[in-house]
Amino acid sequence: MSNIVLHMSREIISKMRNDYQDFLLSKIPTGAVFTAKTNGCTITAYKSGKVLFQGANAMNESSRWGNSSPSPTKKRAVKSGTKIQLPDGFSTLSVMGSDEVGTGDYFGPMTVVSTYVKTEQMDILRDLGVRDSKHLNDDQIIKIAKELLHHIPYSLLVLRNEKYNKMQKAGMSQGKLKALLHNQALLNLLKKISPEKPDAILIDQFAEKTTYFRYLQNQKEVCRENVYFSTKGESVHLSVAAASILARYAFVKEFDKLSKEAGFTLPKGAGKQVDEAGARLILQKGEECLLKFTKHHFANTQKAKAIVRKIQGNL
Ligand code: MN
Repeated sequence: MSNIVLHMSREIISKMRNDYQDFLLSKIPTGAVFTAKTNGCTITAYKSGKVLFQGANAMNESSRWGNSSPSPTKKRAVKSGTKIQLPDGFSTLSVMGSDEVGTGDYFGPMTVVSTYVKTEQMDILRDLGVRDSKHLNDDQIIKIAKELLHHIPYSLLVLRNEKYNKMQKAGMSQGKLKALLHNQALLNLLKKISPEKPDAILIDQFAEKTTYFRYLQNQKEVCRENVYFSTKGESVHLSVAAASILARYAFVKEFDKLSKEAGFTLPKGAGKQVDEAGARLILQKGEECLLKFTKHHFANTQKAKAIVRKIQGNL
């Protein structure tokens, strides 16, 4: 009789439970998720993630699920390590963070902001309400952004539609445009805070690291030192949360200006309403105006033109 212990994630344990559903026992020990009895082996999984295989066939049965006793922390580290590899205590370091807004909106510019948030400023920022901007509405963002501007150094870049469309038509992907802007914002901010240097730089990840640097391969100056990437960067460091708020603020301001020029409130996003607003603009100002108001390569352009043709066909 042998005992084998494995450490499993919650997902695997629930998979195991399904797998053993015909062998489950109704009586389970305290702290256990399930106990199953198969030919020559009793399997008990605990809430802690520990899974105990007991009996003559324990070796065989446990080998179906993995090697014995890998520590759970090790397993998790391998899993997430492919995604993020950040220095210990990253959220408390003094970091330059960078984020962009407007890439999915047909109308309006793309804005990129880098901020520098030092360890000792984090309490003030939290008091101001700096957190993931996806959980804040535009009014809250404007209010926080106006305060925030006075507390931290930042670099803001706005890529308006005329220029965006020119660069896009010259063959630049949106990914490359983002990379160019992030790099520029970071370089600007490094100069601004010089001779001080951040402990690290965090870019809210929109591309793999290798892809990001490939986009920048022909640039004269590339910010590479201590650069890290993470998805959901807003929750990884306050600097990205702050950057995201300022980028959103800049976007909303530009967007309002465009709405005024259009003579009506332009819709955000890239849905049906956007197609209709595009058609309205074509009818009022002519097709050329889209280069000024929109990211012209979006499919919305063709849809807006189709709406216009339909309207004109019915006249
Ligand atoms: Mn982002």
